Amino acid sequence: MIYFDHNATAPLHPIARQAWLEASEKFIGNPSSPHRIGGRADMALEEARHKLAIMIGCLAHEIVWTSGATESNNQVFHHFASTLPSDATVCISAIEHPSVVESAVHYFGKRVRSIPVSRNGVIDLDWLVEELALRRPGVVAVMAANNVTGIIQPWEQIAEECRRWGVAFFCDAVQWIGKEWASKLHTCDLVSGCAHKIGGPRGIGFLKCSLKGEFKPMIYGGPQEENRRAGTENVAGAIALVATLEARNALLGTMDAQHQMRDNFVSQLVSEIPEAEIVGGSERTLWNTVAARLPEIDCRQRWVVKLDKFGVAVSTGSACSSGKEEPSPVLLAMSYTPGEAGRVLRFSSGWETTEKDWEILLECIKRAAEELRPVP
Ligand code: PLP
Repeated sequence: MIYFDHNATAPLHPIARQAWLEASEKFIGNPSSPHRIGGRADMALEEARHKLAIMIGCLAHEIVWTSGATESNNQVFHHFASTLPSDATVCISAIEHPSVVESAVHYFGKRVRSIPVSRNGVIDLDWLVEELALRRPGVVAVMAANNVTGIIQPWEQIAEECRRWGVAFFCDAVQWIGKEWASKLHTCDLVSGCAHKIGGPRGIGFLKCSLKGEFKPMIYGGPQEENRRAGTENVAGAIALVATLEARNALLGTMDAQHQMRDNFVSQLVSEIPEAEIVGGSERTLWNTVAARLPEIDCRQRWVVKLDKFGVAVSTGSACSSGKEEPSPVLLAMSYTPGEAGRVLRFSSGWETTEKDWEILLECIKRAAEELRPVP
């Protein structure tokens, strides 16, 4: 089976596995325990924190370990709901992950303002600048790169604009880290990330928070993480996250070759299937993601099922609730009709994906297109 669903989760990298196993065996203590065995675990955890901070360009104590990005994202809105005035608004892009959208709505309800995006999937920076001047929101949240389309957002400019207006900026960098350089993420006040999208273990993530003043924790029950997140720390997970990121960062110099493979696939796809359209085709996109609107067939689910039968795992990028697929809110926000959105497939590769894998994917899509063509 060829795997093109890395944006959902990625296979465990051998380096992550080794780091996790070694750390689990070596650091058997609880980092909060007063004995030397606990102390060793604590030191290893702090070393991992320090290394991650260097990658992001922030201070080590600004990193809070979490169970993953969903928790980190919820924590952000929990914090602001507890600290902002009761009439404060929050601005989130219309293409955020549900863990941002739903927690923002949970805590702020109608005070959530949605930053519009173009048909090409990039946020409207002019709208945001006007909003900053007019309403001065409590926090702005825009992801670094979108999980459905791979389209890169102007997060560095947003960080600058927010700084100018003294507004906190939160960037969900889940799909960015380990695929692009992370060293400028320190310009964002808050950053979330996790390990499992790039070959690290599941169940470990982080929140980088450089806000001044009191941090309002979402999870209570212990003084861990300097009272910012209770619960015994996942030492092996944190160590494996850092080891995975180090391994991925070492590959960033070869990103051009990855872009080339993606670009070859895209140009062949649109030339061989003229009805196919690349979502946000003219925009800067992650090297690993292609979202393509494919020709009309009876039911979109069949594209995925057909490709699965041919031996490639891809995704629709749709929201799936109670077994029923809804059109992706990301694509709807980009003014795709539900019908158009229903025909979008997402192909997301990993660092280990080869040129041959992309070629096989293309062949399978062509075969599927033949077989799924509606009978006239
Ligand atoms: N943010 C984005 C952009 C994502 O793609 C995901 C995962 O799909 C998440 C947040 C949630 O991450 P986790 O699985 O670590 O909770």
